[in-house]
Amino acid sequence: MPEPLTENESKVFQTNLHKLLASNQNDELTIARQILERVPLIDGHNDLPHVIRLVAESQLASFNLTDLADKNPWKSDPSSHTDILRLRQGKLGAQFWVAYTNCNTQHNDSPQKTIEQIDLIYRLIDLYSDTFQLATTAQEIEDIFASGKISSLIGVEGGHSIGNSLGVLRTFYRLGVRYMTLTHSCPTPWADNSQLDNPGQEPIHDGLTGFGEAIVQEMNRLGMMVDISHVSVSTMEDVLNVSKAPVIFSHSGAFSVCNNTRNVPDHILRRLAKNDGIIMVVFYNEFIACGQSANLNDVVRHIEHIRNVIGADYIGLGGDFNGVDRVPTDLDDVSKYPNLFAELLRCGWSQNDLEKLAGRNMLRVMRRVEQVKMELSSMEPIEEWIPSEDLQPEHKQCVTEYS
Ligand SMILES: [Zn+2]
Repeated sequence: MPEPLTENESKVFQTNLHKLLASNQNDELTIARQILERVPLIDGHNDLPHVIRLVAESQLASFNLTDLADKNPWKSDPSSHTDILRLRQGKLGAQFWVAYTNCNTQHNDSPQKTIEQIDLIYRLIDLYSDTFQLATTAQEIEDIFASGKISSLIGVEGGHSIGNSLGVLRTFYRLGVRYMTLTHSCPTPWADNSQLDNPGQEPIHDGLTGFGEAIVQEMNRLGMMVDISHVSVSTMEDVLNVSKAPVIFSHSGAFSVCNNTRNVPDHILRRLAKNDGIIMVVFYNEFIACGQSANLNDVVRHIEHIRNVIGADYIGLGGDFNGVDRVPTDLDDVSKYPNLFAELLRCGWSQNDLEKLAGRNMLRVMRRVEQVKMELSSMEPIEEWIPSEDLQPEHKQCVTEYS
């Protein structure tokens, strides 16, 4: 991947850009595409594996991922936004595919379901090996980008997936998982989720428990990014207090722009910048426009607000494609990312800032997380189990007492 532009090159780019834009309004899209050819566009969150489980019972032989746009049942599914042709049009350089299982599996078979989703991601990479390649480090993303393939990374969405077990967490890392979202739409016995910040709801732990802190420390030691999308504000604060490495929001917006508890308040954004982390902006209409409909400019408002509060060094994109059923006009599937970059060019964004948004910020975060792993290499694995008093009787109904 080329070095960032020097100050001089950047000035020349801006001057040429303004001349170009003055001559032809359609050129922003051309320039946007050129930027995404220089730097890998890294999206933080795509739920394609979940939709494949629901629509095709995880059977990859039953369909062709190359082109699903006109194929039923995908075509009529409002949560189907991804296929290979559209990933290529969208100029994706790297995708975090999400291994997700819903909260009904908590205290039951969540580790098994999560492993099945990880297996599905590996089978996708193997079947479409001309397009995808597994990446587990920042350097691998750059190398795979240079080869023309799309880096495929794995994130686990929801701390319920580890079944309260640091052994499962460590094994997920060995399977290639490089981030875990601490909660989904349910609290775990060790962390509060964002719904508990809604009016009328009460916190359960008021953030992380002691065991929750141990999970964050173990993730730092392993080199697995801590994702604090979906958690409550007090959990965000506790994680920022405990984590030695930068943290991520893999798919969230700005609370000041849309008051949904899935979004991030300004005081947390400022702490995120101090932590050197990243917020990858989500495209879901409910979180972007606080309503059923939205357009691309609503996403721009979130990105610009975050830049106004903390600058351009801490922003990325995590569309949540295939994880939601209502996405903005003009940004309604994975082919549309260049539209967003073109609009930001019109808003006066520089090439350097757009390169940061596309991928440079996330690469910096990943490198720092990898460095913290090295710095903690003399730390022993944390061997404690979740204290039995942290588990309620209903948490134990479907698990054995085998020790
Ligand atoms: Zn989510």
